[in-house]
Amino acid sequence: MTTTSAPSVTALTHWVDGARDETPAERLLDVHNPATGEVVTRVPMATVADVDRVVAAAKAALPGWRETSMTKRAQVMFAFREQLNARKAELAEVVTREHGKVHEDAMGEVTRGLEVVEFACGMPHLIKGEHAEQVSGGIDIWSIRQPLGVVAGITPFNFPAMVPMWMFPIAIAAGNTFVLKPSEKDPSAANLIACMLKDAGLPPGVFNVLHGDAVAVNRLIEHPDVAAISSVSSTPVARHVYETATKQGKRVQALGGAKNHMVVLPDADMDLAADAAIGAAFGSAGQRCMAVSVLVAVGDAADRLRPKLEERMAKLTTGPGNQASSEMGPLVTAEARDRVADYVAQGEAAGADLVVDGRTLRVDGHDDGFWVGPTLFDNVTTDMSIYREEIFGPVLDIVRVDSYADALEMVNASEYANGVAIFTNDGGAARRFQHEVEVGMIGINVPVPVPMAYFSFGGWKASLFGDTHMHGMEGVRFFTRAKAITGRWPDPSHRGVNLGFPTN
Ligand code: NAD
Repeated sequence: MTTTSAPSVTALTHWVDGARDETPAERLLDVHNPATGEVVTRVPMATVADVDRVVAAAKAALPGWRETSMTKRAQVMFAFREQLNARKAELAEVVTREHGKVHEDAMGEVTRGLEVVEFACGMPHLIKGEHAEQVSGGIDIWSIRQPLGVVAGITPFNFPAMVPMWMFPIAIAAGNTFVLKPSEKDPSAANLIACMLKDAGLPPGVFNVLHGDAVAVNRLIEHPDVAAISSVSSTPVARHVYETATKQGKRVQALGGAKNHMVVLPDADMDLAADAAIGAAFGSAGQRCMAVSVLVAVGDAADRLRPKLEERMAKLTTGPGNQASSEMGPLVTAEARDRVADYVAQGEAAGADLVVDGRTLRVDGHDDGFWVGPTLFDNVTTDMSIYREEIFGPVLDIVRVDSYADALEMVNASEYANGVAIFTNDGGAARRFQHEVEVGMIGINVPVPVPMAYFSFGGWKASLFGDTHMHGMEGVRFFTRAKAITGRWPDPSHRGVNLGFPTN
């Protein structure tokens, strides 16, 4: 992405107070269609003054929204759900145009986001507190959960619709107002979502979109009127957001990068494991935080799996995401393509066996797209950069180990701990693995174990900084704070001064 070179395309704007923000942008960046290399729009980069204007709009909308009845807030969510259902394909097309993922995958992304909206429709039930009667003579205690205020979401490029929907439906339904700072690489989905929320009846200022880069993020972090930051990014950015925002006294959840292992035991169904590994490694061109990038083959599993992987990879079709025949799309930017190609070169230089080299891929009629085809390495070792670092592209490493214990030790030694999968027919081994492995989300014969909206999503270690996961009840807790009330109705038996602590 470079500073703009295509003044003829229509530029995006921030979305403030329920409308396009007409303040002229000081700086615009080009956004490309990664399948063609063409500039499809330009995105404004917020200044500090822009951030302050957007936060002020969210703050002004807060009193009205938090006093809006729970029922009405839920009704807006139900109406938004209907909008999303009706316009799912339109949103998926926007995602494909700027991210590159194939249409079916983009539809899946929108669906997973929609499920969080459906969860948030139940906020009147989810937000309920507790009540205990007669905790002391004539005294009851009850608890309630209240919104935090203005909250901000910082989101990555790889799920431009779903990741924002992990956050704002819950935040808004709970009575907060929201500022979304989406990725500058594929920003248009955020504006379309804003339009849908408006059409669903959401009052102006409750959901705002602020486009930009580190300038915008850092101002949101230090802004005194922002109560909490929910963020999803690469690990260095997540660490920065967590450390700086907590220092400002804010509530923070900052999800980071990943390097997900798939352990295959020798007793596994190898055809099932091969199908699963291919989907999990190359879906969305490996640009998923839950993508499998390391296949840990125990015993003779590698010798049996490798030909099955090669056979399946030879049949994969890489091409533009809007063509029905494409199974895998391009990388998001030219920089991402070059970074992935550089990792492949590093792997070769370090002595790993490059079994399938995706760098040679050409897509007919799309010479300027950002392509790297499915790539497979064998005999990767844990000292290599292709093992240690997050490549975030269609590159699968096979690491060979002798035993279950070696596989477990390797997974637990990883800096990252987002997702992990084990493939086996041995229930005892699977149970032992789920108990012993130090990772946030575990799949048993499921390669991409993304929990449903009513469970929580999140990793451990360098994959998540903070105390709460996304969505599910963890999300409700993150976007609300608790109050406990102790009350009694005046009663003659309560009269008389008592300086002691109650003995009940
Ligand atoms: P990124 O870290 O480059 O950017 C993410 C967000 O942070 C964007 O909104 C960006 O504008 C902002 N940002 C970038 N640099 C910044 C800086 N120096 N200071 C403040 N803000 C900054 O990530 P990306 O390339 O957009 O997305 C891919 C990454 O996100 C991968 O590492 C992936 O694993 C991770 N991710 C994690 C999860 C998860 O659930 N753990 C989910 C999706 C993506």
